[in-house]
Amino acid sequence: MTSQNTPLKQQRIAVIGYGSQGRAHALNLRDSGFNVIIGARPNGPSFQKARADGFTVTDPANAAAEADLVALLTPDMQQPQVFEEAIKPNLRPGAALLFAHGFNVHFGQIKPEAVWDIILVAPKGPGALVRREYEAGHGVPCLVAVHQDVSGQALSRAQDYAHGIGGARGGLITTSFAEETETDLFGEQAVLCGGVTELVVRGFETLVEAGYQPEVAYFECMHELKLIVDLLHEGGMAKMHQFISETAQYGDLTRGPRIVDADTKARMKTILEEIKTGQFAREWVGEYKSGNQQYQALKEADLKHPIEQVGEKLRARMPWLNPAQRAKAAADAA
Ligand code: NDP
Ligand code: MG
Ligand code: MG
Repeated sequence: MTSQNTPLKQQRIAVIGYGSQGRAHALNLRDSGFNVIIGARPNGPSFQKARADGFTVTDPANAAAEADLVALLTPDMQQPQVFEEAIKPNLRPGAALLFAHGFNVHFGQIKPEAVWDIILVAPKGPGALVRREYEAGHGVPCLVAVHQDVSGQALSRAQDYAHGIGGARGGLITTSFAEETETDLFGEQAVLCGGVTELVVRGFETLVEAGYQPEVAYFECMHELKLIVDLLHEGGMAKMHQFISETAQYGDLTRGPRIVDADTKARMKTILEEIKTGQFAREWVGEYKSGNQQYQALKEADLKHPIEQVGEKLRARMPWLNPAQRAKAAADAA
């Protein structure tokens, strides 16, 4: 066991959970020269996968016992149980517990004792991108935060870890658990997932109900979204304006604010309040604990929408949209 004052590179990191974030973090840290072991449940698929990637793999409790820093990267709703059963009884005082999202600490689902550093390194992208950008010599920007500092080294441990996964190449932004958690939830609810999909589906319905062909409506309201998002992603509003027609620009500027108006913004503020007061977290944790019936029913209804049926048919005619299909076609041709 190493002293908490030694640099993170000379300490042992246990990554618990080898999914989207876990695998990317572990591979990047190892390639950056850090000492990484994996904690995975012995009967789950991740155990063998991590072993096949060449890691020392043990169960989460053993991994926590041997670590100076534990990165808890199981799904958020699985973290409280893993914390209680595997980490709390085994993690030595002075060690660090790291999260990639502040939900459980911020909303009190995990209440760590005052003997560990509690830190956050949240990459602003999915695990596959964290790995791909690292391999390409870049990095996905990361948010970094400290909830609890017992070693006096909490921030530098978080920064070292962020360097190790390549995040510092993209630039670190220092934040708090509260800010990371509340903005992450707001973004996915109001804009990225909730907002965008409702806009797409309501637009599709409007065209189809007016008698236009579903295939044409799909292209206009769903498929072409990527072109616009890519422009926004690469160069903001300025780049989008450069590349769309003047007619599209005039329509955007005069009609957009009538679709998303002051009432929409007022409801966004309500959604944000529900996040900040913990109302959303209580609802979601309650739903998860009572068996996810409502969640599954809503998801099923979402996937039964006609836009999904027409989309599936049209996407089958565009094999370039599916990387696995593309790879198979290339292999067949060879
Ligand atoms: P995943 O859903 O990909 O995690 C799956 C992994 O967790 C698998 O290795 C699985 O093991 C393991 N696991 C699940 N339940 C348990 C359990 N009870 N005990 C032990 N291992 C378990 O998670 P993500 O990578 O999506 O998320 C991890 C964290 O990263 C979360 O806090 C999330 O909010 C955050 N985050 C995620 C982002 C993303 O894009 N996905 C982006 C930024 C942050 P097995 O194979 O045995 O089932
Ligand atoms: Mg999120
Ligand atoms: Mg606009």
